[in-house]
Amino acid sequence: MQPLQFPPRLLMGPGPINCYPSVLQAMSTQLVGQYDPTMTGYMNEVMALYRQVFNTQNEQTFLIDGTSRAGIEASLVSVLEPGDKVLVPIFGRFGHLLTEIAERADAEVHTIEVPWGEVFDPQQIEEAIKRVQPKVLAIVQGDTSTTMLQPLNDIGGICRAHDVLLYTDATASIGGNPFDMDAWQIDAVSVGLQKCLGGPSGSAPVSYSDRFVSAVRKRHHVEAGIRDAHHTESSGSRIRSNYFDLGMIMDYWGEERLNHHTEAATMLFGSRQCAVELLREGQDTVIARHQLAGNAMLQGIQAMGLKPYGDLSNKMSNVVGVHIPENVDGEKVRHDMLNIFNIEIGTSFGPLKGKVWRIGTMGYNARQDAVLHTLQSLETVLRAQGFALPNGEGVDTAMAVYSSAKESAAQKASL
Ligand SMILES: *Cc1c(COP(=O)(O)O)cnc(C)c1O
Repeated sequence: MQPLQFPPRLLMGPGPINCYPSVLQAMSTQLVGQYDPTMTGYMNEVMALYRQVFNTQNEQTFLIDGTSRAGIEASLVSVLEPGDKVLVPIFGRFGHLLTEIAERADAEVHTIEVPWGEVFDPQQIEEAIKRVQPKVLAIVQGDTSTTMLQPLNDIGGICRAHDVLLYTDATASIGGNPFDMDAWQIDAVSVGLQKCLGGPSGSAPVSYSDRFVSAVRKRHHVEAGIRDAHHTESSGSRIRSNYFDLGMIMDYWGEERLNHHTEAATMLFGSRQCAVELLREGQDTVIARHQLAGNAMLQGIQAMGLKPYGDLSNKMSNVVGVHIPENVDGEKVRHDMLNIFNIEIGTSFGPLKGKVWRIGTMGYNARQDAVLHTLQSLETVLRAQGFALPNGEGVDTAMAVYSSAKESAAQKASL
């Protein structure tokens, strides 16, 4: 058997992306026992780091072991008792995923939808809340399937006014777009590492407000075998998943350190380093870097005569949809970019399948050189397919976006 060997791809799709080198390094750290004080010390540190990532004071901020959807499932299955009402505003594929997970939890699921490429008005959501009177509103912040970013800053206030718990999946947006958990009054969030946080998939950072935690604690249950005399059963129905039982997971991350799963230490090391990278560079700087890379990519695409997808005023900074031009074989373009240039761009799901490419500029890859290589290789591959486009305009335009950003930064610094 040969050691693992992959081609040196540049991952410019909607995720996963190339990891920060320091994250890979952190993930090759030797283990200690799960209750070793140095390990529990790092668990506490990770909780503190992700409070900063989410901009929250929530005590209950930790990792779910599993990909982003593990975070979604743990949140929904733990808060939703069978028959509870949940409202899911759907604006892309991941809204359908929230719906599906809530249905499997036997909740009474109500949905509202806008066409793909659009987002909701707070008013639309408030009207639906009044009509449905749900226990939980579950909504995606950034949906990579449509590239749209749902503004959440007004939704939390609406939810509080109607005594609704607000859960959001911010996997695709966290790190590349603002996320202000406490200021926006969000009760529950789950994310993953493989988008703007610059890590691999396999760990889902989460955070829960006290309101959300009380709803989960009503269903508190301690497994036989580790249960002591002082553990009392609560009145709510037992959470239907053992692995995703947030009450038991909180007992493991909390002072009691009650055994549940064995923490995936290597993923914890990676998650920790993702947060360290974000906070070391500075959240605002990283968001600005994503905005700049995303803007350079967008303008480069437009300068090549290609049409971006969806409502650009609500686009996430870190991914752009591009209409595949007529008479161009979209899959052959992706194939050639991958095999000739080692660059991966994304295809699409559902109604956009075969119609739109998705190009990401996320995490470690939200960089000028990555943007320029992608635009240049896309131009070359398109030309080879007989698609007429202006020579070098994409790259030149993206470079101009970077130079003018540099100039205005220099001007600001000299003021
Ligand atoms: C990419 C993405 C995910 C990914 O889920 P995984 O389980 O990590 O594959 C989840 N939610 C949203 C909104 C995403 O964009």
